[in-house]
Amino acid sequence: MKVIDHIAQAKNTLISFEVLPPLKGKSINSIYDHLDPLMEFKPSWINVTYHRSESMFKKKADGTFDKVEVRKRPGTVGICAAIMNHYKVDAVPHIICGGFTKRETEDALIDLNFLGIDNALVLRGDAPKNEVSFEPEPGGHAYAIDLIKQVVNLNNGLYQDEDILNGGKTDFCIGVAGYPEKHFEAPNLEIDLRRLKEKVDAGACYIMTQMFWDNQKFFEFVKACRIIGIQVPIIPGLKPITSRKQLSVLPRIFHVDFPTDLSTEIIKCKTDADVELVGTEWLIQQSKELKEFGVPVLHYYTLGKPKVVWNVVKQLV
Ligand code: FAD
Repeated sequence: MKVIDHIAQAKNTLISFEVLPPLKGKSINSIYDHLDPLMEFKPSWINVTYHRSESMFKKKADGTFDKVEVRKRPGTVGICAAIMNHYKVDAVPHIICGGFTKRETEDALIDLNFLGIDNALVLRGDAPKNEVSFEPEPGGHAYAIDLIKQVVNLNNGLYQDEDILNGGKTDFCIGVAGYPEKHFEAPNLEIDLRRLKEKVDAGACYIMTQMFWDNQKFFEFVKACRIIGIQVPIIPGLKPITSRKQLSVLPRIFHVDFPTDLSTEIIKCKTDADVELVGTEWLIQQSKELKEFGVPVLHYYTLGKPKVVWNVVKQLV
């Protein structure tokens, strides 16, 4: 079932989770071990992130180095199919522009369609770790909106190969990313919101946000979206804080701020176990307030911390 239909039919605030594919070499059981305890909350769907390959240097016997392309976390499409099969719950693959030509994207979408997956979170992706800025693949897309248009075309039976006439139509429900604290490349929030509206006007059915810890920022973001005519559901992305290290790592990677109250409490903590308690309590209060505000879904980035997310969601049901 599509995300948008889950939301339309919901009587209460829905719960959804997000997982990362395991590192190459690990089995699908590591995903099941991660998700098993969380399934008691009957999530409406599970998102599976996508990770492009990175260039690495491998030392050879003669002391020189070979540049190799490594995909550390393959398997997004397979994991989605496995989750749907194993738990009978919907899975939402993330699909990105980075590293793909339009034709490769089309083939991936056909795979998803054949597997009965009719949801996709459509993203641009970031630059590979050792590159400064995002560069589209030759024959690929520069922005998420271009990929949205390709998915919408496929939903209308329009393929890259113009010789395909009366092509089978897919029926993807498209989600897109939104940034309550602005995407880091956007010159200002106003322009970023305008770009977001373009994605919605191009065919996105809902917005899923970047993680944030200050609900006020989310409320202002929703208000600003509504003012410029974005009507689709906006789903907050929520992440538990479990270590002091995250105070500097998360702002650096995700360009998000910590509210002063939260950072003050974390700095006072002596151990990461203490930080986890603070982070859990914060997320419980944050989730309760968002629920009261009337968000359609609480979406949790479970990344490696299913127990903490379990402790939070247990307080909400
Ligand atoms: P876009 O919407 O294309 O926007 C990128 C930037 O370009 C923005 O600054 C925007 O304002 C600007 N822009 C947009 N359109 C135009 C235009 N036509 N002209 C000029 N400027 C424009 N990354 C992954 O690699 N894998 C994942 O699984 C993944 N999951 C994510 C899930 C969520 C909920 C979120 C919020 C992010 C996720 N990301 C993921 C990260 C995402 O790929 C990055 O944040 C990326 O930098 C931007 O992606 P986007 O889809 O928002 O890009």
